[in-house]
Amino acid sequence: MIKRIGILTSGGDSPGMNAAIRAVTRVGLNAGLEVFGIYNGYKGMVEGYIEPLTHASVSGIVSLGGTMLGSARLPEFKDEEVRRKAVHQLQKRGIEAVVVVGGDGSYRGALSLTEMGINCIGLPGTIDNDITCTEFTIGFQTALETIVDAIDKLKDTSGSHHRCSIVEVMGNRCGDLALWAGIATGADIIITKDTGFDEQDVLDRLRDIDLIKKKRHAIVIVSEKLTDVDQLAKKISLNTGFAGRATVLGHIQRGGSATPFDRMLASQMGEKAVDLLMQGIGGQCVGIIENKIVAIPIEKALAMPAESRKPLENLFERLV
Ligand code: ADP
Repeated sequence: MIKRIGILTSGGDSPGMNAAIRAVTRVGLNAGLEVFGIYNGYKGMVEGYIEPLTHASVSGIVSLGGTMLGSARLPEFKDEEVRRKAVHQLQKRGIEAVVVVGGDGSYRGALSLTEMGINCIGLPGTIDNDITCTEFTIGFQTALETIVDAIDKLKDTSGSHHRCSIVEVMGNRCGDLALWAGIATGADIIITKDTGFDEQDVLDRLRDIDLIKKKRHAIVIVSEKLTDVDQLAKKISLNTGFAGRATVLGHIQRGGSATPFDRMLASQMGEKAVDLLMQGIGGQCVGIIENKIVAIPIEKALAMPAESRKPLENLFERLV
């Protein structure tokens, strides 16, 4: 039976990571384990920035955004020599297993560590919902709420000025934030990696919204890095009856207090991770599928194809 586990947060941070840290710590301590916080992701693991966590050290964090352990990127972690240093840091403290909260890059690191004898369990901590083996990642719902709130406000003012607001949201590899926000805010056009970007089509549709549907304003939601939203705004001003205005929501989407859903998800997933580690299981990641918390081998999870977004895309088209 293992005695000491560690927890770290890695890659881009997401609201709800703190709830996951709290759950892993409290469930672990209550099961008789010693729990260690590894600061700044794999960077802190390599450097030995590792400290014991107590009941009190995770008190009051469930409602806080960000991650109390900090996060970082360490590309060199792909190098086995660097990972060996990390394993040494863990072994000299008697830490036998680790919970890794992060995205698919962090999962690859967790798998490599497992192969080197440190059992790791991955929890999906990313706002983009871009991990295919779970229906929801920790932080997605909170980021969605932030986006919806921002777009609702933009709609108020763009309606007063016959404007078209072009809103860039996060999620380059997975358009869920754009798609869900588009449906929830009554947007007119969404552009994601799945829909693709056709400038002429966007301009034609906006002219139709202005001249035929006679709407006072329009909202276009674009996933990041698909097109230059400032350029698109200029083209809209030149080629349609709307004045185009671009808004990049940026890192605001990563902040804020996690929604109750994300806190619940993180708590349930944290519990599952500790249970798996106590059973001597590693190299798996936790997901939620049909409202059940499940565990899947990381290797299998990373190879899973993305689910089709067609049903929601169709719903969106039927609503505009
Ligand atoms: P995310 O976990 O959000 O996808 P990254 O892709 O930046 O974010 O990965 C986070 C960290 O995970 C990286 O900085 C690196 O330390 C580690 N990592 C990423 N890919 C690998 C890999 N193939 N092998 C080992 N570690 C990796």
